[in-house]
Amino acid sequence: MTELVKGRFSRKVLVPLLILSLLATMSSVLAIMVRAEEAPVLPTFDIPALSEEHKTSALPNVIVVATGGTLAGAASNGDKTNFQSYRAGTYPMADLVAQLPKHKTADVSTYQFGNKGSGGYTIKELYDLSLAVDAALEIYDSAVVTTGTDTMEEIAYFLDLTVRSEKPVVVTGAMRPWDVIGTDGPANLYQAIKVAGSGKTKWFGTVVMLNDVIFAAREVTKSNSHRMDTFDTPMFGALGYVDDPAVRIYRAPARAFKAGTPEWATPFDLKTISKETLPQVGIVYNYQEASGGAIRGLVEDGVKGIVTAGTGAGGISSGLSAARSAAITNNGVVFVSTTRTGSGSVYGGSGNTVAGDNLNASHARMMLLLSLAFSNDVSQIRSWFQSFGTADVEISVDANTVLSTSVDEEIGLPELEEPVVTEPTPETEEPVVSEPEVTEPPVVEEEEVEPELQETVVTP
Ligand code: ASP
Repeated sequence: MTELVKGRFSRKVLVPLLILSLLATMSSVLAIMVRAEEAPVLPTFDIPALSEEHKTSALPNVIVVATGGTLAGAASNGDKTNFQSYRAGTYPMADLVAQLPKHKTADVSTYQFGNKGSGGYTIKELYDLSLAVDAALEIYDSAVVTTGTDTMEEIAYFLDLTVRSEKPVVVTGAMRPWDVIGTDGPANLYQAIKVAGSGKTKWFGTVVMLNDVIFAAREVTKSNSHRMDTFDTPMFGALGYVDDPAVRIYRAPARAFKAGTPEWATPFDLKTISKETLPQVGIVYNYQEASGGAIRGLVEDGVKGIVTAGTGAGGISSGLSAARSAAITNNGVVFVSTTRTGSGSVYGGSGNTVAGDNLNASHARMMLLLSLAFSNDVSQIRSWFQSFGTADVEISVDANTVLSTSVDEEIGLPELEEPVVTEPTPETEEPVVSEPEVTEPPVVEEEEVEPELQETVVTP
């Protein structure tokens, strides 16, 4: 190559290449700086360290992360018959745990996250709660989270979708305040600690336990305003029960089948976003001749997503439908269709409308809110709705199949003793009742009689 050609080559090719690579380096340094600036400031939590006593004990270490609710409620005017007039979130959890009998199956510590009714928590506070639970699970074997029951299904599902740890998270509460007659608070707290300590819901995500029944967070709903057996999973039923001898798990939520794989964790890692970026998402209920006003109002409020609780298989009125189209076209709002029936799946959806599968409206709202915090891509959001916590089970067995369901002996059920019921000793002697003598009736030889055959009349 001549000197002339070399000179031209370096001017025409090398110099622009050099400038390009310089620019690329500068822009990646800039991107790192911007990302560093955007890195969310994460809250810190004063999670108690394990006590020396708990460190040396063989029992599992369970932490109760308390947020208040009726379980920590005090009856109005100290009236122990006030089931419905009380102040939720009054007593500190450390005092409540101290009032329980010493737990037989776990060492228990407490962390007071807050103390108020469930409906009083903001989504930003739930972001903090989720991080607090994960921080607690770095130290403890499992966590019980106490909340009010009113929005428990939303709080529990938010935790289910966001907690990174595979360790058990058990949400509980109560329908009657702590200090009234017949309260369910102490029993629910004790039993929830038992479930958490058993470790049996590891990889299940968050579960809810009240009234001795264990439910998947994704499936559970509050079904009655006052009754103590208010929690129910209308489509799938309970996961298991808490009985005296043991915690019994009869089925696993779909999520547990992804245990140990990268798909088990949702992409909603709250540590990677600031809580300020959590969007507003609303719910609109369909009814006879519903106007589009509810949708227009929410759009005006600045929502990024709306869940419709439709009639039947997700239907909405023409008024809502027109408002939905306008919100999509003019504001890019993402919609999720669910049913107001209380149970059942919704299919279909196209464009900015996503089918909510079998999530109820309040669960779908949490899922949409988190989805929109992590993606603007509707097809991505659609695939999350189709795949998180859903299942279409098919069993196939081949030579490599390992069946690992435990049977009673393997899960360590204590040997069942017959329950001892002590009868009171009668103070007086049992009266002797003499039975009348029964004489055998005389045997009468019966004549064998041919049965009379009846004609069957068949009418044409
Ligand atoms: N208002 C209460 C709450 O949700 C009800 C409850 O705890 O059950 O906090």
